[in-house]
Amino acid sequence: QRRPGWAEVEEYLSATLVQGGGGMDAVISSIDRAGMPRIEVAPTAGKLLMLLARIQGARRVLEIGTLAGFSTIWLARGLPGDGHITTCEFLPEHAAVARGNIDAAGFGAMVDIRIGPALDTLPTLAGGEPYDFVFIDADKGNDTNYLQWALKLTRPGSVIVMDNVIWEGTILDPGDDLDAAAIRAALDFMGASDSLDATAIQTAGSKGWDGFAIAVVK
Ligand code: SAM
Repeated sequence: QRRPGWAEVEEYLSATLVQGGGGMDAVISSIDRAGMPRIEVAPTAGKLLMLLARIQGARRVLEIGTLAGFSTIWLARGLPGDGHITTCEFLPEHAAVARGNIDAAGFGAMVDIRIGPALDTLPTLAGGEPYDFVFIDADKGNDTNYLQWALKLTRPGSVIVMDNVIWEGTILDPGDDLDAAAIRAALDFMGASDSLDATAIQTAGSKGWDGFAIAVVK
């Protein structure tokens, strides 16, 4: 059950630690204007992605699920000037909004948006330089497939972050919620994989009760 206070605490954390919302007002407005769903990560989580990329010293990032580029821009802020992000987005209309936002934020040259189902795009990325950091945040039904591709496209020491792994706690008893079952399967895959050192953290706030998994490739 969602407890009162989570959203208020997050507002406080955002105001205190992500001053001015990270200057992302235009990105949020673009989501509303385009009638897109407000399913971008929270500002505190966006900043966490930036910090994780920076802590890891990432230069090449793979993102699965672009929406309007909110998380993409946060990740780009964590990279050095010669950094690169490949981000996969199924819907051309989402990709178009993201392109505008990413260009306006000054990261146009750093970000390659690949339009189409990520499972079509990911095989085309094989054989290139490995990615240092992968952020998985698209259709939850494919989370395990995305993890398997992430393992093919990374190197030992790469970091993989997967969003929405708690899904309001439904992962414990998915019933007929296919997304919850798929997320549970992806967590099971992470735990059983000899190639990953993984953990997960629950979060509660403006996005409800959810969480993210984080793993290092062995
Ligand atoms: N990471 C974004 C952020 O925090 O700002 C939010 C991404 S949103 C949760 C998920 C996105 O994945 C949507 O824009 C959706 O269109 C896209 N998506 C859904 N299925 C996909 C697929 N099979 N391949 C690529 N993208 C997909």
